[in-house]
Amino acid sequence: MKKYPIISLALSWDQDDLDYTNGTGFSVMTHEEITDKEIEEIIEQKKTAYIIKYPSLSNFKCEVSKKEPDSWVCEWFNHKSLTVFETEKDAFESFSEFVDRTRDPYPESSSHMMGATDRWRWKLCHCEHCKDQKVTRISH
Ligand SMILES: [Zn+2]
Repeated sequence: MKKYPIISLALSWDQDDLDYTNGTGFSVMTHEEITDKEIEEIIEQKKTAYIIKYPSLSNFKCEVSKKEPDSWVCEWFNHKSLTVFETEKDAFESFSEFVDRTRDPYPESSSHMMGATDRWRWKLCHCEHCKDQKVTRISH
């Protein structure tokens, strides 16, 4: 199973109506090792998208950490990969391999998988957002 570079970003900002720092976390998977310049661009894009929606946000900070390369990466009740699969069946087989390899042998501590071990929940996303980002996303 091919593994791809993954970085995880924690973006935070100050917000007029809150007296604490708000933020969001997300992961980016890339075909090749990601460069610092590409990371900067991703942060800028994300910042810009937030500022367009909420112009009063300020003092953006971003913490970037490198994760172990892998075939899938966990998000909020879904996993994503790059769109590298010939068919949906290939995507599900790859995800199945990932889940079997990643799952903790003790179910009570598998909560970090966010339900991914329940195969009946798996659903492949066909939205425009995933298409634009060239990612394959399976919700669970
Ligand atoms: Zn989608």
